[in-house]
Order: sequence, then structure tokens, then C-alpha cells
Amino acid sequence: KRAEYAALRDVEPISKCGKRITVMVNAGLREDVAGLEVAGADGIGLFRTEFQFLVSDTLPRREAQLRLYKDVLDAAGKKPVIFRTLDIGGDKAVPYLRQEAGQEENPAMGWRALRLALDREGLMKVQARALIEAAAGKVLNVMFPMVSEPWEFDEARALVEAQRVWLEDHHHMLPSEIRYGCMLEVPALAEMLDVLLPRLDFLSIGTNDLTQFLFAADRADPRIADRYDWLSPAILRFLRRVSKATNEAGVPTTVCGEMGGRPIEAMALLGLGIDRLSITPAAVGSIKAMVRSLDCGALEEQMDEWLAYPPDDMREALLDWATQRSV
Ligand code: PEP
Ligand code: MG
Repeated sequence: KRAEYAALRDVEPISKCGKRITVMVNAGLREDVAGLEVAGADGIGLFRTEFQFLVSDTLPRREAQLRLYKDVLDAAGKKPVIFRTLDIGGDKAVPYLRQEAGQEENPAMGWRALRLALDREGLMKVQARALIEAAAGKVLNVMFPMVSEPWEFDEARALVEAQRVWLEDHHHMLPSEIRYGCMLEVPALAEMLDVLLPRLDFLSIGTNDLTQFLFAADRADPRIADRYDWLSPAILRFLRRVSKATNEAGVPTTVCGEMGGRPIEAMALLGLGIDRLSITPAAVGSIKAMVRSLDCGALEEQMDEWLAYPPDDMREALLDWATQRSV
């Protein structure tokens, strides 16, 4: 199988109904960027900038951030990179900020990610400046994590824009364009898409956090890992609603949670009208193979039926459907 998938490196993920699916990779460290070429992916759909902070003993300085972002953009060449601003706090606590965060009852729902960044503006300003400088002459894609209401996106965007203006006033070379997006991983944000979407250049659905919040089930606790499934009708109905809204609004929408790297789960996502995935590099081959064997138009129709009257076992239903069609 591995050799078979490797052979797909230069093959485009086009489904049987002719739809080109965008398959990107998730990354976090300088070394991860090699995965982009090895896997033959379309870009980096999620660059987790907090990784540099997690592996460091002290707060990475602006120069170190700038160097990393520049290296990543250079390595990616013409392929797009989506930089997610700091998602620290919660399960990704860093020692040099822990004291400030204090003891939290529910760190996943606590002072983390954009909440922390908007309160500690200095962090975000330094990062914004590093990103803008690193992308001089190129397109910069910035994405904000854990947005729960549209105003948070507005505030974060304004913060980055203020840095852009400052750098412009000081005669720095700027990115050719800055594109702004956010993660949808807090369920409440899905209720505000009519307000939010017109402001976005792109959206990315973080199904890791989204499912933990939808099911009130800690993503890090193995004892409850079996209690729900990414193929639960509740999740699929939720995602279909989001996908319909973003497709209608014409906002490119990616799923960047682990779910998208599993063939059956990814198949379900395509059946919901989602056509952009950002996944672990090791999964690119198997996902391309799945895409190329799939008639997504037929699956979309079938999915509507299943979501109206959910089968007892969605995984089995999807597997049976795929097996019947491949003979
Ligand atoms: C997610 O929550 O699905 C996601 C992609 O982000 P992270 O796993 O870094 O929280
Ligand atoms: Mg997340």
C-alpha cells in the first residue's frame, strides 16, 4: 500500500465526478515542511505556530519567529501556507505563561488561544509583525484559533492590520496581500455564520476541538474516546449545515482536524460538500486514493438521505456503499 500511495505523489486528487479536491497538510515545526513535497500536497492548510513556543524554554523572540515563518514560506515555494496565530493555553500550556494562567478547572474551555492573545496584546503584536515581515512580497494567510464570536475575529484582524500599517509607515516591504480567516471549533460560532462569513477570506473547521465541545467530551481522555464517533449523525448534520452556508457564501472552507486524514471520515466530509482537507502528511496518499475512487455527487445524494434517517451504524453504511461501488 505504501508504495502505491507514494506513486500518487504527483497525481491530482480528482474524484470520479470530476471534482478537484484540495489536499493540504498540517505542520508545526520547520522539519514538518518537508512533508509537503514528499506527500505531494497542495499547501500547508494549518501551520500551528504554537509548536515553536511549546518546544522552547523561554518566549521565542520576534527574530526567531520571523526566521521560522520565512523558512516555512521559502520551503513551501508557490504553495500556500496558512499560519494559525498562537493556540497556547489549555492542553498546550507553556511554562513561561503558566503562572499567569493560574489553575483552571477546565483548561480546554479556559484562557487559551485567541482569548489569551487578545488579553496579552504584546504577544499577538510581535507575532503579527514577524508574520508580515516574513511574507514580504508574498501572500500572507493568517488564521485565528478558538474564535467564539465575530467580534473576536474583528479585534484580532484589527490588531494585525495595525501592525501592517506601522510597518508600512516605517517603509518595510509588505506582503502582496494579507488574507484573513478563522477556525470554527467553538460550536457557538456556527450560529453566527451569516454575520461572520462576509468578513472572512477563508474558514477552517477544527474538528478535534469542535467534537470535544459538541459532545462535552474531553479530547485528551482515553476513557471517553469511544463514547462518540466522528461519523455520528450529530457531527455530520452540524458540518453539513456549516458546509452549505460557506458554499453559498463562496468562502473556501477546509477541515483541518484529524478526522480528515482517515479515509472513511474524509469520504463522509466530501459527501457533505467539503472539498478542502488539511491532514497529517502520512495520510495524503490514502486520502488521494480514496478521492480518486469516489463519485462524490452520488455520495452527496446518499448522505442527504442518511442524515434525514440516520442508519444505526454510519461507518458500516459508508463502508458498504463504497464497497458496492468499487466492484
Ligand atoms: C482542531 O481543533 O481540530 C485543530 C485542528 O486544532 P488543534 O488540534 O491544534 O487544536
Ligand atoms: Mg483546536
